[in-house]
Amino acid sequence: MEYPRIKPIYPKYQLNEECFRIGAQLGITTEFEDSTKEFWTLTNKLTGDRKVEDIVLEMQREYPHLTDTDILDGINLLNEQGVLEEAYAHEEIEERYLANVNYFSRFTDVSENRFNYQRKLNQSTILLLGLGGGGSNILTLLAGLGVKKIKIVDYDRVEVSNLGRQFIYKESDVNRLKNEVAKESILAMNPNIQVESYNKKIVTVEDVLSFTEDVDLVICAIDEPPFVIHRIVNQAIVQANLPCVFGASQVSRGRVYTVIPHQTGCFDCMNLNFSKNDPKFIEQFVGFRNIKFNPPSIAYGPAMFQLTASIVDEVVRVLTGYTTPRSLGTQYEINYEDGSSFTHPSWAKFEDCPTCGKGDFKEWEIFQYYEPIEENHG
Ligand SMILES: [Zn+2]
Repeated sequence: MEYPRIKPIYPKYQLNEECFRIGAQLGITTEFEDSTKEFWTLTNKLTGDRKVEDIVLEMQREYPHLTDTDILDGINLLNEQGVLEEAYAHEEIEERYLANVNYFSRFTDVSENRFNYQRKLNQSTILLLGLGGGGSNILTLLAGLGVKKIKIVDYDRVEVSNLGRQFIYKESDVNRLKNEVAKESILAMNPNIQVESYNKKIVTVEDVLSFTEDVDLVICAIDEPPFVIHRIVNQAIVQANLPCVFGASQVSRGRVYTVIPHQTGCFDCMNLNFSKNDPKFIEQFVGFRNIKFNPPSIAYGPAMFQLTASIVDEVVRVLTGYTTPRSLGTQYEINYEDGSSFTHPSWAKFEDCPTCGKGDFKEWEIFQYYEPIEENHG
């Protein structure tokens, strides 16, 4: 602790002669009882331009009965309450990212440097698979966060029916390749980002692996064919040993789950988990698969924004650790109707998983109902 200060993101005000507050909203406000005004005086000296020892001396000039320990205990209490940070007056970050840094301030104490989270983003390379309803909005958020490089992959062309929710595309882009338009859009939003753009349909594990070099994290925003494509991406990210955030949306519910190979369970561990624990799992899976369900497009812009916001926040959590990720080895589910969210029971990493462990596909009935994964499609 060198130059501590009360976090400027919070207001600081007296309620009455006995009590003051830091913060103004439920859940992010702390109230302090302080009939002597000593503590209030101390908080007013924590402005980030005085060293701790100078603050102690100043306090003792005004309140000679206070010991060093009294004053340091007070400073530590403010830190424990989450309202204190190091000023880092000489840290430099691009102005466009300062508001991100201020958000990270909420999650730090005096020992953590909020600028490092932004710096980590500025140094990260992300592979984004899919530029549809999920991917196109994910891309917008990544541009704002200022990741170093984004590799984008899609094979589709812009259609009129996309325009209600995929806002990086304009009417004049209809019939153009999404990956090309997306690159132009992202560079218009943030020219500091390096963009590698590929026109490619992901069909095999090798397809994914051809893009994973130098990548820090993968985002899977493709969902065709259902379940199968997540298995393919899962197998690739386990082989490449890269974390992957998966997103999926069905009618009015969205799900996010994250695989960190060899730390969390993978997608096939989830298949094993349900095989072991849910007696209806296989008949549900087979029943659904057999009807070859092909629903009309039901991606609704406001709903997609809720889901993609959660996906990208999870990406930032996994990359920077600014706070605990919500979907490691579990499914974080968002209900678009009432804005609620919850976390499903997590699944373990299984040693007998054929993908991230030492198991054999033939030992698990579920895998015979998936299309066999091709290693090399050419
Ligand atoms: Zn596994």
